[in-house]
Amino acid sequence: MSHIHIPFNRPCWHGDEIKYITQAYENGWISGDGPFTKKAQHLLEQQLNISKVLLTTSCTDALEMAAILLNLQPDDEVIVPSFTFVSTALAFVMRGAKIIFADIRPDTLNMDETQLESLITDKTKAIIPVHYAGIACAMDNIMAIANSYHLAVIEDNAHGLYGKYKGQALGSIGHLATQSFHETKNITCGEGGALLINDPQYLQRAEIIREKGTNRSQFFRGEINKYSWVDKGSSYVLSDILAALLYGQLLHSHHIQEKRKKLWHYYHSHLISWATHHHIQLPFIPDECESGYHMFYLLMPSLSIRTQFIAHLKNYNIHAVFHYLPLHTSKMGQLHATQKKTCPITVDISDRIVRLPFYNDLQQQELDYILDAIFAFTID
Ligand SMILES: *Cc1c(COP(=O)(O)O)cnc(C)c1O
Repeated sequence: MSHIHIPFNRPCWHGDEIKYITQAYENGWISGDGPFTKKAQHLLEQQLNISKVLLTTSCTDALEMAAILLNLQPDDEVIVPSFTFVSTALAFVMRGAKIIFADIRPDTLNMDETQLESLITDKTKAIIPVHYAGIACAMDNIMAIANSYHLAVIEDNAHGLYGKYKGQALGSIGHLATQSFHETKNITCGEGGALLINDPQYLQRAEIIREKGTNRSQFFRGEINKYSWVDKGSSYVLSDILAALLYGQLLHSHHIQEKRKKLWHYYHSHLISWATHHHIQLPFIPDECESGYHMFYLLMPSLSIRTQFIAHLKNYNIHAVFHYLPLHTSKMGQLHATQKKTCPITVDISDRIVRLPFYNDLQQQELDYILDAIFAFTID
C-alpha cells in the first residue's frame, strides 16, 4: 500500500455545489447578499434555531464585527483561552483590547470555567469560549458568570457547528457566535464565515458594520430612501458565488455530520484499548454534550513520543499534525495580555496533542491503513 498518501484534511464535495455555483454565475449576481446568501443564512437559522445569521468573509471577520459591536475601548479586557487559533484573540486586539488568557481543562481542552471569576476585573467586557474539537464548553457556568458580571459571551464556534450542549445547538447560546467555513472546517466554501446573532440588541448595528458602516441593508429592504455612512465597519460581505458553494454543502450537512460521527467512533472504538495500554488519552465527551465531530486527536505521553509518532506515520505517508501553540507565550500574546499569566495545562497539551486525518470522504480502506500504522508504532 506504499502508493497510499493520506492528507490530514481535504475538501470534499457532496454533489450540489457546482450546480449552485453555476446558478449564481447565471443569475448574474456575484457580489454579496444575493439569493444564495439569503438561502444559506435562512437554512443556518433554521438548523441552529438562531434569530439572525449574517454570512461574512471569514470567522476572523465575524469576530472583528463582534468586537466592534461591543464598542470595545483601548484597555477593555476580553477573556480568551490560550489554547485556540490566533483569530480568537486577534480580533479583539485589533480594537485595542487587552487579552486575559484563561487556561484549559485537561479533559475537554476547553476554557476552564472554574478559573473565570478569578480573571474578571472591572475592565472585563467579554468571554470568548471556543468549543474545542466540537465539544461544548461548560456553557451554563459560563453564561451564569457572564450574566452576574454583565459580560458579553461570544462563542467562537469554528469547531462546534452542529454540536450541542444540553440539547441546544452550539452557536445559539452566547449573545453572539461566529462560524468558519474555511477549507479545514466540517462545512466549507473555501474561505467564509458567519456572525450568529442571538441577542437582538446587536442586529441593526451588525448589518451596518458588515456593510462598510452604511445602512445599505435597510435601503435595499426599502426601509429608508437613501443610504449613508452612519457607523464604523468594514467590507465583511461574502460573494454570492461562495454562498452558493456553501449552500450546496449546508444542504448535505446531515449526511456530512453522520459520516464524521461514524469516522470518529471508528477511531475511538478501535483505539481505546491500545491507547489505555500505552497511557495515551483519547477525546472526552461530557454527558451533556453532543459533539460536532470536528476532529479526532490523541494526547501522547510526552513531546518526544509525539514527535516520534508523527514521524512514524509520515513513513506510512500519513499526515498527522499537532495543533495550537499557546497564545499566551507568543510574541503578540505577551504584548497584548494584561498580566504575565501562566497556563500550564495549555503548555502541556500543546506539546502532546496529535490530530489524525479526518475528512468527510476518508475511506474505510484508508482508515484501516491508518489504524494498522498506528498499531505498528512502538513506544520505548
Ligand atoms: C478556523 C478557526 C478560526 C478562523 O476561521 P477563518 O474563517 O479562517 O477566519 C477562528 N477560530 C477557530 C477556533 C478556528 O478553528
